[in-house]
Formats: sequence, structure tokens, C-alpha cells
Amino acid sequence: MANIAFIGLGNMGGPMAINLVKAGHEVCVFDLSETAVAQVVEQGASTKASAIDCVKDAQFIISMLPAGKHVDGVYLSPETGLINYIAKGSVVIDSSTIDATTSRKVAGELALQGINFVDAPVSGGVGGAIAGTLSFMVGGSDDEFKQVEPILNAMGKNIFHAGGHGAGQIAKVCNNMLLSVLMVGTSEALQLGLANGLDAKVLSNIMSKSSGSNWTLDVYNPCPDVMENVPSSNDYQGGFMVDLMAKDLGLAMDTAVGSQSSTPMGALARSLYAMHAASGNGGKDFSSIFNLFNK
Ligand code: NAD
Repeated sequence: MANIAFIGLGNMGGPMAINLVKAGHEVCVFDLSETAVAQVVEQGASTKASAIDCVKDAQFIISMLPAGKHVDGVYLSPETGLINYIAKGSVVIDSSTIDATTSRKVAGELALQGINFVDAPVSGGVGGAIAGTLSFMVGGSDDEFKQVEPILNAMGKNIFHAGGHGAGQIAKVCNNMLLSVLMVGTSEALQLGLANGLDAKVLSNIMSKSSGSNWTLDVYNPCPDVMENVPSSNDYQGGFMVDLMAKDLGLAMDTAVGSQSSTPMGALARSLYAMHAASGNGGKDFSSIFNLFNK
């Protein structure tokens, strides 16, 4: 069992840290929110006065923070940056969804101090974080991947080695860009059928068994009451927020600009999700884009 420091105990980080505790690891947790810390400590984790105190004895340091600027600040800020306190030979696992450029910068600076790093963003949402069934997309060397795999197994079901540093973040934005395009396409197809007199359940069944079949149609249908236990049948509550999808599509577009890639469908999906968020839907599940096409 390992000594682990866990920084960032929000919707995702909290349940992920609890799963590490359940697996028998010694977990020291820190968050700016005392309430978030208390919820994980209640489940058997320890805490200290600062993130610096937590990381000093840790073999693994896991972070689950909102965006690139937080990750950069937590690890690299001149005086309080954790880089100054993490022991040589330890491994940093950053599971936040951030730009690959920041991941590579943090990896490079840590390497100069003899500290290993992987970017390991996740897919599976809050439900997957609670159930311990997340998918991890890992960027790092073969050796770093081997070191982190047993730790990630306590929080996830599928652990993928995407490539070198930053590759996990690139895999994550490719996946979420495709997911958004599929969700928009499924929504407009279902609305077209509804506007022309079809029953959404009948049409969904036909397309699921035909060439239009895809995850957003088959497992996460955006039309209310076609399926049970999906956000669309619960007023689009829970699931994966529009604001987070808009954030990930922004990262996808920055990535596309950086590599001069053409991503016309992703660009359109980003605009549609930005518009949907600006109309007051940022806190709803991303399948609520279905309502944008309502006649
Ligand atoms: P969240 O806002 O619920 O949690 C972030 C936590 O980080 C907060 O508790 C905040 O207090 C803490 N924090 C911020 N700055 C800190 C600092 N300097 N030191 C210590 N703690 C600090 O966010 P979340 O939903 O848990 O998402 C975390 C990451 O996971 C994001 O990058 C997000 O894009 C990604 N993600 C989220 C989901 C999801 O469904 N929520 C799914 C996949 C990936």
C-alpha cells in the first residue's frame, strides 16, 4: 500500500480519494474548501494544514483541479509550489482536464528535480468517480505508466497508456470533441423525426439497430422519457455539465489551432455549446443541447 497525497476534492476528486482509502492506501487530502476536506476525512483519509505538509512524505501526489492555471500554480508557483517539497523519485499524477502544453511544462520542470509525472485525465463523470469505474488516459513514459497503473486501478476500470507526456490530455479532448458532435447529431436527428410525427422511442430503436447507432443514442438518449436513469429523463440534472463540455471543446479548439488541424464539426459543436451555456444552461447535463433544436 502507498502513501498518497490528494489535492482537489471537488465533485470528482472527493470520491476518487475515498476509493483510494477503501483500497487500503494511506491518503492525506487537501482542498481550499474545508467542507470538501471534512467529507473525505470522514471516510478515513487524514489531512494536514497545507498541501505542502501533505506531499512531503507522499510516494504519489494526485491532483484533480479545475484548469491549467490551477495545476501550474499548485506545482510551480515560485515559493509555495509543491515542486519545492515533493521528494525525489515520487510520482505526480495530474488527473485534471487541462491543456497539454501546461502538462508538458509541469512534467519538464518536475523532471529537472527528479520527480516523475503523468497526465491522467478521466472519462466517466461523477458516477464513474463514485463507482471506481473511471477510464484513465495516461501520458508519460513506459516506466511512469507501470508505476501509476496499480494506483489508478483503485479508482478506475480502464487504464490506457496514450503516449508520452501530454498524450493523455490530447486523447481526452479528441474523445470529448467526438462525443459532443455525436450528441448534437443525435439530437437534431431525433428532433427531425419528432417534427415529422415519429415517436422518439420507435425512432431511437430503429436508428440504434441501424447505421446511426452511437453511444449518445444507445446509452445516453437526449430525448426525455426514451430511457430511464439518464439525465434527459430527470430534467437534465446530474451527468456531465454543459459548462464542462464547453471548457473541453475550448481545449480541443486550442489543440487544433496548435497543430493546424481542421476540425469543422468540433468548431460548430463548440459554438453551439457556448451558445447553450450562455442561455443559462451551463449547469445542466450536456444532453440538454437536444432542446436547442426544439421547434
Ligand atoms: P470541482 O470544481 O468540483 O473541484 C475542484 C476542486 O479543486 C474544488 O474543491 C476546489 O476547492 C479545489 N481547488 C482549486 N484550487 C485549489 C488549490 N490551489 N488547492 C487545493 N484545492 C484547490 O471540479 P470537478 O468537477 O471535480 O473537476 C475536476 C477536474 O476534472 C476538471 O479539470 C474537470 O474538467 C475534470 N472532469 C470533470 C468531470 C465531471 O463530470 N465533473 C468529468 C471528467 C473530468
